[in-house]
Amino acid sequence: MMAPGDQTVAVVGAGIGGLSCARQLRAAGFHVRVFDKGRGTGGRVSVRRTKSGASFDHGAQYFTVRDAAMAQQVERWLAAGVVAPWGCRIGSLNSGHWTPTKSETIRYVGVPGMTAITKLLAVDMDLELQSRVTTVAREGKGWLLSFEDGKDRGVYDVLILNAPAPQSAGLLEAFPSFAQRIRPAKFASCWAVMLALEAPLDVPWDAAFVNDSSLSWIARNSSKPGRPAQPDCWVLHASPDWSMAHLEDSPDAVTARLLASFWQAVGMPPRQPAFVAAHRWRYAVPEKTLETRCLFDEELRLGVCGDWCGGPRVEGAYLSGLSLAEAVRSCN
Ligand SMILES: Cc1cc2nc3c(=O)[nH]c(=O)nc-3n(C[C@H](O)[C@H](O)[C@H](O)COP(=O)(O)OP(=O)(O)OC[C@H]3O[C@@H](n4cnc5c(N)ncnc54)[C@H](O)[C@@H]3O)c2cc1C
Repeated sequence: MMAPGDQTVAVVGAGIGGLSCARQLRAAGFHVRVFDKGRGTGGRVSVRRTKSGASFDHGAQYFTVRDAAMAQQVERWLAAGVVAPWGCRIGSLNSGHWTPTKSETIRYVGVPGMTAITKLLAVDMDLELQSRVTTVAREGKGWLLSFEDGKDRGVYDVLILNAPAPQSAGLLEAFPSFAQRIRPAKFASCWAVMLALEAPLDVPWDAAFVNDSSLSWIARNSSKPGRPAQPDCWVLHASPDWSMAHLEDSPDAVTARLLASFWQAVGMPPRQPAFVAAHRWRYAVPEKTLETRCLFDEELRLGVCGDWCGGPRVEGAYLSGLSLAEAVRSCN
């Protein structure tokens, strides 16, 4: 049996789940290295900024807290100033008519953007961005990862995958019995549109779940704490059914159709946006999760975590990472 300090861990994915796992393992003494194909951390917790100062959380909108371990973590994030409650005026939109939602739920957001959370989780971590893992293979008793750029990053004792289930399963084709355990997790897709308006939209609300529309969600990003008030930035999410039906459409075609749905939903004539762009989330939110918070094979020293294990959303991803770190620790 090896001590944690003698063991190396490769974590593929710097999403909430991968980073929560990585931090816990590093605190336990493991040598952890995190790889992500993206230009920044966060995965589906993501911020798009424009040169003109517009900013959009175009993935996760906010997060809620149910679990005690998550509540403790959120207290630390609040104290560090990377998270704040979003006191938004939220409701539902039905054919242009807005109805406020009466709820006590606290909705938290990262400040100044949702990625503030993963930036903090990644502080002092051994992290390599823009490093896409293309294959994983056994090398002796360890794991050899291959990367798109062909560079050698060595062999690791433990391998953790944090990519969405279909992508993790794709990397594990040579390990069919493990990959088989991942496959029941299913994802819905989501087209997101980011829209900036020079003059603020005159509506008495900040966020709405939309009914009878191609859109399922509209939010004024500028109403979140720590965001610039100008320009007036909005994030629109298409419904899962619409997104699936239009998954392979061009971003321009999607933008045009969802903008039309937006103006219809808010009951106003269309205006020329100062900025507009669309982003496709192929694997957006889990429709079906595994029943366990993580999977870990002690023999292979291979684990997976993410929001598709045990519980969807940001909170589920965070707890999944913690649970996998515990599984790795306890088999030592
Ligand atoms: C449109 C949308 C709206 C959402 N709204 C909410 C919300 O309001 N509230 C909420 O709580 N949650 C929301 N979610 C869900 C939330 O974003 C996720 O539950 C959470 O961020 C998942 O974290 P994760 O760590 O499981 O995975 P991810 O964030 O998907 O992280 C996986 C990481 O793995 C990396 N990766 C994948 N393959 C490779 C590879 N081959 N090599 C290297 N790196 C790789 C990716 O780049 C990514 O960074 C939303 C998601 C979307 C897309």
